Amino acid sequence: MKLTKVLTLLLTLLASSAWAQKNYKVEIDLTKATADQLSVEIVTPKVSTDQIDFHVPKIVPGTYAISNFGSFVSNFKAFDQTGNVLATSHPDANTWKIENAKKLYKITYTIDDTWDTPQIKEDVFEPGGTSFEKDTAFVLNTFGVIGYLQGNEKKPYQVQIKHATGFYGSTSLEPKKSNIPNVDVFETDSYQTLADAPILYAKPDTAWIKVANASVLVSVFSAGGKSSAKALVNDVRPILEGHAKYLGGKLPVKKYAFLVYLSNKKNLTRFGALEHTQSCLTFMPDSFSPEQLSSQFRDIASHEFLHIITPLTIHSEEIGNFDFIDAKMSKHLWMYEGVTEYAAHHSQVRSGAITLEEYLKRQTEKIGISKKYFNDTLAFTVLSSEALDKQKEQYQNVYQKGALIGLCLDVKLLTLSNGKYGLREVMARLGKKYGTKKSFKDAVLFDQIASMTFPEIRTFFKDYVEAGKPLPLKETFDALGIAYNPDATHKTIETSMAFGAGLAPDRKHLVIADMSGATNLGKRVGFQPGDVFVTMNGDPFTLETYQDCFAKYSSTVKLGDTVKFVVQRKDANGEEKEVSLEADIREEVQPYISIEPIASPSATQQKIRNAWLGK
Ligand SMILES: [Zn+2]
Repeated sequence: MKLTKVLTLLLTLLASSAWAQKNYKVEIDLTKATADQLSVEIVTPKVSTDQIDFHVPKIVPGTYAISNFGSFVSNFKAFDQTGNVLATSHPDANTWKIENAKKLYKITYTIDDTWDTPQIKEDVFEPGGTSFEKDTAFVLNTFGVIGYLQGNEKKPYQVQIKHATGFYGSTSLEPKKSNIPNVDVFETDSYQTLADAPILYAKPDTAWIKVANASVLVSVFSAGGKSSAKALVNDVRPILEGHAKYLGGKLPVKKYAFLVYLSNKKNLTRFGALEHTQSCLTFMPDSFSPEQLSSQFRDIASHEFLHIITPLTIHSEEIGNFDFIDAKMSKHLWMYEGVTEYAAHHSQVRSGAITLEEYLKRQTEKIGISKKYFNDTLAFTVLSSEALDKQKEQYQNVYQKGALIGLCLDVKLLTLSNGKYGLREVMARLGKKYGTKKSFKDAVLFDQIASMTFPEIRTFFKDYVEAGKPLPLKETFDALGIAYNPDATHKTIETSMAFGAGLAPDRKHLVIADMSGATNLGKRVGFQPGDVFVTMNGDPFTLETYQDCFAKYSSTVKLGDTVKFVVQRKDANGEEKEVSLEADIREEVQPYISIEPIASPSATQQKIRNAWLGK
């Protein structure tokens, strides 16, 4: 008996050690998280070189921004099998050089979360970051926790996660059977697959629905307890039903997970989501009204899901062979983000989830924002190639002008084909030609699409994507029987002040920083740079309260009202005193972009409009 036992034990040990030396075996214990930090232990595959680099990503797919996850690592150590420490050096933020690497067995380190680590000065967008809150929720974007050995990205991973009783890990990954209570085991074929699957650990608030051929999970963590998966799943259903129709009757995945974190942090300056092949992670404020939450989540869900088409299916080599340390930028953000954003709204108007009027209102906003805040003559291929550095400030235009490029291209294709096919069909053909495993060459995509369609499409790309010509919006809307007038005016009451504000040295109060962009109303109030806000219309006006103050103001203000501020201002002797400022609200003539369907379009216009709307 004894012998058998030892033998079995010996066999298991041998088996597990042989296994472990071929693949990665990661262990994380969420129950031991302290001060927003996790300990990570990685048994590595066997290394055959004397030296090897261990990396934690500098950049991850879909973010188009540098994250430097290595900056969040501390206490990095490498060991041989008997527990001796191997010499390591740390040449840059995301690299650890390990000596005597043939002996490498195990790596351990501590990692901070990115949401709540003020001492680390990396700006990581929340949906692509991490949060470790022991008692409430863990946002595990796996690439922000786990690293890899250079050249060993394609080796399998086994990740064991221990969690507290009552916590559930929501993810698109299928957990393996685990015999240990409160331990989840996930296995992936490579680092890329692991990095593509975030996990949200919290007390479960989940809902499953079936849409077309897919099972869809909505998992919600609501920090303020205001919303639930039950409510959000009703927003997902019509969007995905529309997408199934849009994509020819079926969804391209069998399982998909919407992981939603609703934050109760005050005055969030941004929110959004990051796409993955079978899931997306959404970060939004919990303070939204149910209507706001519903409409924002619909748009986010619509956009993120359609990323399955591009770049998750149709992509260039830069994305297909993604380098987490030294990523090369593709020229085609007009497609990855622009066409996705276009389709996210086009699918909704085709399925009837939104009206044509609502669709056109959204395009008006996109045109207005892209022309007001971004460089309209910058070639989109240049914006794309330089999105990480030189053109960082222009990146957000991919959701504005990028989507409008999609619209113009779609209508051009419909016009040239006499209503037979548009961008939707061309994307489907590209998806068949390439698919998830095969990348296109960045330099030939425009020629390829032109050769699949019309020579005129090559000219379209040359003018509006490779050169920075203003988009043919008038021609595009006209083809659909829609009147476009960018120079319309209307009478309205002035509400916006458009002063530039910054943080006062106490970091709680706001201070006037810049009045150069102020509106007439803003100028009449009489702010001076350096004024520190005290109240607005009698309510305290600070970093904590300004959003509520503005919300109250814009929902109640009417013609003839007076808007009042109290500020602290230094007088000529340098003494601080409170000054009251005010201005009356007047009527003003404002320019606006008018986009309205023509009541009686020509037969050709009607035909193209019907084809575009799928009627
Ligand atoms: Zn996107």
